[in-house]
Amino acid sequence: TGAGLIVSFGEMLIDFVPTASGVSLAEAPGFLKAPGGAPANVAIAVSRLGGKAAFVGKLGDDEFGHMLAGILRENGVVDEGINFDKGARTALAFVTLRADGEREFMFYRNPSADMLLTPDELNLDLIRSAKVFHYGSISLIVEPCRTAHLKAMEVAKEAGLLLSYDPNLRLPLWPSPEEAREQIKSIWDKADLIKVSDVELEFLTGSNKIDDESAMSLWHPNLKLLLVTLGDLGCRYYTKNFHGEVEAFRVNTVDTTGAGDSFVGALLCKIVDDQSILEDEPRLRAVLKFANACGAITTTKKGAIPALPIESDALSLING
Ligand code: ADP
Repeated sequence: TGAGLIVSFGEMLIDFVPTASGVSLAEAPGFLKAPGGAPANVAIAVSRLGGKAAFVGKLGDDEFGHMLAGILRENGVVDEGINFDKGARTALAFVTLRADGEREFMFYRNPSADMLLTPDELNLDLIRSAKVFHYGSISLIVEPCRTAHLKAMEVAKEAGLLLSYDPNLRLPLWPSPEEAREQIKSIWDKADLIKVSDVELEFLTGSNKIDDESAMSLWHPNLKLLLVTLGDLGCRYYTKNFHGEVEAFRVNTVDTTGAGDSFVGALLCKIVDDQSILEDEPRLRAVLKFANACGAITTTKKGAIPALPIESDALSLING
């Protein structure tokens, strides 16, 4: 199709998920491999919905790295921005929900290939050829990928792309909450579009209120759209001229992993070729309804990538 390209920048990794639920990592009888990483999920979400997406990042030149690149290609994601590190290995995460309800994380990142992406390795022509640049997760944490991240944003901005930011706060990975807040805020005013979850809103504002006032405290003058996702309550949107809420779909939720990425991918897909939607409330509401449907569908299956919908799935949910 002639759809404009959406570049998604950041990490891709493998989550190892215990085959039994409610156990600690040490007690897990075995693990399933679940490919993920928010930026990669977004690229695949776009592609599955019929849009054009590229992933820009770095993988290990190992079995896992090539497996992940294969998953991107199978899903139609443009691979011209993928680098392979000769030395470091692909990032791995072990994540479990223990019986006491706490999430337990363990990471292989010391350092992993994604963190070693350098500014020189960026495919700048690919970025310049796109219409939207989406980013935000753990690539701000360490060098050299932090500098690569900032450079990619700068090039995208210069080339006139729409910058889309999802902080995807994964607090256990940051040196400290203060540093997370500081780094996230340092790139805040570069974005044209920002999506935060209710949890991130609380973290960034330091307030436990999830209301219009706290959302608006995150507003910056160049922002075109601020979104707050609310899980099974849907989402809220804020623009310079209007704001409101779009309710969620009721589905049989089994695993919410990837819902936010699916939501963002759907939104970007629908606005990439017509950004005037951001200024037109009825059309924006229709797009957010579609994004809510995609997010909801993603919660009905285990894992993120296997649960990302195609367009007809979302339309079926919307049209009952
Ligand atoms: P994040 O993954 O970033 O925390 P959310 O969990 O809020 O984001 O999910 C993003 C969107 O997916 C929500 O705005 C909503 O539309 C949809 N969604 C998430 N969880 C559910 C759920 N349990 N039921 C229905 N829709 C959901």
